[in-house]
Amino acid sequence: MEHSKLTMENIQARLAEALLPWYRANARTLPWRETEDPYRIWVSEIMLQQTRVAAVLGYYARFLETFPTVEALAEAPEDRLMKLWEGLGYYSRARNLQKAAARVAELGGFPDTYEGLLALPGIGDYTASAIASAAFGRREAAVDGNVLRVVSRLADCHDDISDPRTKKAVRAWVQEAMPYEMADIRVFNQAMMELGATVCVPNGPPRCGACPVRALCRGYDRGTAEALPVKAAKKARRVEEKTVFLLLREGKTALRRRPGTGLLAGLWEFPNVEGALGEAAAPAAVAAWSLEPKNWENKLTAKHVFTHVEWHMTGYTLEVTGTGPANFAWVDAEGLKSHAVPSAFAKYYAEAQRQLKER
Ligand code: SF4
Repeated sequence: MEHSKLTMENIQARLAEALLPWYRANARTLPWRETEDPYRIWVSEIMLQQTRVAAVLGYYARFLETFPTVEALAEAPEDRLMKLWEGLGYYSRARNLQKAAARVAELGGFPDTYEGLLALPGIGDYTASAIASAAFGRREAAVDGNVLRVVSRLADCHDDISDPRTKKAVRAWVQEAMPYEMADIRVFNQAMMELGATVCVPNGPPRCGACPVRALCRGYDRGTAEALPVKAAKKARRVEEKTVFLLLREGKTALRRRPGTGLLAGLWEFPNVEGALGEAAAPAAVAAWSLEPKNWENKLTAKHVFTHVEWHMTGYTLEVTGTGPANFAWVDAEGLKSHAVPSAFAKYYAEAQRQLKER
């Protein structure tokens, strides 16, 4: 196409025919692309939220081996589910998966429309569109960060992509660009994401030389692509200081369950208190649990970054005597393995394993 004819309508009309043959010839082979089963597609979409493809692959295989059907997931004990999710992060995703699985089992199957899917727990606009299109061939545009970037560049659009109005406009635009054939609808959203993940990449310059839609790209034509998309600066994360205690007693260490709501809800953690306590102040925190400290050992610091908050942790390892509060579970090395301890505590978990094996 001559560049003078790069109208938005022209780009929309020709996008699918340029994109889909490239996708079919070049797409990465991923297990969730080999199926039209809404359960398998849904599990992959939830796992892929905020998580890289490479990190998801192993979890995805193990998850489906353990819970091969939506009914099996609906009936799974929560601890088993959390253990399987351990390390993947954003644990509310797993809880919502199970809630939605129970609802789907109740309904006797997955809703096959965007609206029906959107009504399930943990399924937002993007996931509902992704499942509706890939599993049921519905013409629903799924817009994630990849698609926002690709469309900003294609359209030479300088609107802030963190503004919900921009996202809405992009969704409407992609909706118009979607093909009509069932087989094409099923892969179009995936193709847009694949283009964003492998060619029109987020970090560093886009690989326009290898791009199947270059002839349709205003950003390429006008030399603006690399500066796009426009995104307003994020607010700085809140920092929370904590002091974590690896309490050791007769070959066991103490864990306690986190509250049922909020960050890392219901998972297990090493007892901890707010604030970075120095060596003079830390013993009083242990005494408050009616435990008597014996030997203080190495001090372990760690940092964990969540989406909106950072934990800066100071840690102490110590032998104690006494029973401690009723909500402490005292576990040996094997017992520790069977509790879902989030990766925020990975450094303390590794140290606890080491200490318990030595004793
Ligand atoms: Fe992205 Fe370049 Fe392709 Fe445009 S030509 S869509 S900027 S990779």
